[in-house]
Amino acid sequence: ENINPRRILSRMTPYSPGKPIWEVQREFGLTQVTKLASNENPLGPSPLALEAIQAYLSEIHRYPDADTVDLRAVIAEKRGFSLDQVLVTNGGDELITLLSETYLEVGDEVIVPSPTFSEYEFGANLLGASIINVPLRDNFRYDIDDIFAAVTERTKMLYICSPNNPTGTYMTKLDLHRLVKGLPSHVLVIFDGAYSHFVTADDYCDGLALVREGYPVVVLQTFSKIYGLAGIRVGYGIADAGILQRIRQVKEPFNVNMLAQVGAAAAIRDDQHLEATRSNNAAVREALYTALRELGLPFTPSMSNFVLVDLGVQAKAIYDTLMSRGVIVRYGAGWNLLNHVRISIGTSEENAVLVQALKEIV
Ligand code: PMP
Repeated sequence: ENINPRRILSRMTPYSPGKPIWEVQREFGLTQVTKLASNENPLGPSPLALEAIQAYLSEIHRYPDADTVDLRAVIAEKRGFSLDQVLVTNGGDELITLLSETYLEVGDEVIVPSPTFSEYEFGANLLGASIINVPLRDNFRYDIDDIFAAVTERTKMLYICSPNNPTGTYMTKLDLHRLVKGLPSHVLVIFDGAYSHFVTADDYCDGLALVREGYPVVVLQTFSKIYGLAGIRVGYGIADAGILQRIRQVKEPFNVNMLAQVGAAAAIRDDQHLEATRSNNAAVREALYTALRELGLPFTPSMSNFVLVDLGVQAKAIYDTLMSRGVIVRYGAGWNLLNHVRISIGTSEENAVLVQALKEIV
């Protein structure tokens, strides 16, 4: 077979996202489908983003800005960094792939505390690097000594997803600082803050302070979650300018389309929409907790916009039944959590549909 031997194709199963709404409608002959499977913003994007995108529809015969200067300027100002400390990508996913392509080779080791987001393993496998899984502890808690123990001379990268997908748990500020400051300098830390804007805990750290202090940390951010722009694919990294410059050498010139650039720039300015999203999330998550307690279903308290629920050995059956009734959640098989589903926080109406279905099934 004439395939690139560097890639570990046998380990690379295609990513299986939550079934799209139209597919469930067609498969089960339903008109009403509630999707709580991909941690999207149930309120949609900021109206300012929609306006900006509409205004640029007449420009789409032009190539977008390859350097994403305007968007980087808005991000840099908002987060307190310089222009060259920001790199915009086609979703956070592309940043993971670009980091892998830039830094990894066969024989390198990538530490992945797990269960977590599957793209980290995808990136490592793409380059033939080895994945070192470090299981989270009781209640899906990070243990930094376990992570330290996994570090070798060949460790190139360490992923910290906080809050972690799919558990909703986070690494404390104290632990994150101890970890980053205690690692040898050949380990690049990728701090995935895709859900950082949902966190309300006082002892949380979004990683940016460590970049400012000059540690080898790349902070990943996305416009797909709290900003509600998953469909136009835009994310970014914040890191040392030198690190980002190396990544720029391998990125495609027009990786971020024009509508994504203008939409994201408008979205990041809309603090009001962010606040509305946060407060919906907190209220509906609380309502979901209450319902789960009433149903006697154990769950992991979450700092994010999804909740991991333990449905026991019936999990797959309950997941299938929910699906047949038009409620899409994420089954835990991909994380080897066979008794769990991950439920995204929707609007209170969507949550009521889910809770009613659970009451009838469980
Ligand atoms: N990191 C985490 C933890 C995620 O859950 C996701 C989205 N599923 C991403 C990164 C990437 O998101 P996107 O590519 O849509 O920006």
